[in-house]
Amino acid sequence: MGEVVWINGRVWPRDEARISVYDHGFLYGDSIYETVRTSRGRPFLLDRHLARLRSSAAAIRLALDRDDAGYRHAIQETLAAGGNPESALRVVVTRGVGDIGYAHRLCPAPSTLIYARPLRPIRDPALRQGVRVAILDVLRNDRRAVSPAIKSGNLLNNILGAFEAESKGADEGIMLNRGGQVTEGTMTNVFMVKSGVIRTPPPEAGLLPGITRGFVLELARAAGMPVEEAPFGPGELRAADEAFLTGTTRGVLAIVAVDGTPVADGRPGPITLRLTGLFDTAEDRLAERAGPQAG
Ligand code: PMP
Repeated sequence: MGEVVWINGRVWPRDEARISVYDHGFLYGDSIYETVRTSRGRPFLLDRHLARLRSSAAAIRLALDRDDAGYRHAIQETLAAGGNPESALRVVVTRGVGDIGYAHRLCPAPSTLIYARPLRPIRDPALRQGVRVAILDVLRNDRRAVSPAIKSGNLLNNILGAFEAESKGADEGIMLNRGGQVTEGTMTNVFMVKSGVIRTPPPEAGLLPGITRGFVLELARAAGMPVEEAPFGPGELRAADEAFLTGTTRGVLAIVAVDGTPVADGRPGPITLRLTGLFDTAEDRLAERAGPQAG
């Protein structure tokens, strides 16, 4: 199994992958990215990831230099070179290499990198036992600063959040906005269930509209389960009947404790388990529709 990086058209083994120290992604965090995973060897929900990459690029006024077919081809090349049964991919586009300074015209062309590494199976039973979260003092960036809706490589805020979560003995940290409402985790979206209603904060709370979040909302609605995008505070999360996180490399992940206090009986709840089942079934159906993998 291999870790490889595709850089501007060429695949390198992990230890030989290099980028200029004048790349503005490195100098300024002036970059965007997507985390994509495979399902039966193929990129899962790739259309949605490419659409969000374009939306992030537009938000930072970065002109992408290839079409979706170009990204698909590059991803295929990277997956083939990595040779892993299932992969986690990180597609990064930076402002490019240029002189020191903020002006975008200093960088004639973006840099594109695709990292591939083996993916821990999404259905790993150990993962599905659930995780503990902590409510963080570190706030989510304001929507009028570096908007959380941009999947930006400028991740220091999230890294500070992850530090705090770790220091509190939690697996993931939940960030609030300035109004005290729950936004999302440092690398996941968050849902709660109260009296049978599934609730997740709306984009206006200031969050990344996760691909998994969107997929889960669609599955719940299609199954006739009551769902709402509505704000809630940390007190409501603590008092929830159930809670869970969503993210590309984890799928649906039960929250079993908030700030050290168990959520209900401290085990994944029935609605969370039902959604996990719906998610697996939908994923299998998509894989079957795509047909057997060539090669
Ligand atoms: N929020 C943040 C801050 C994230 O970094 C991620 C992971 N990309 C998510 C939510 C989940 O999004 P997705 O389902 O698209 O992976």
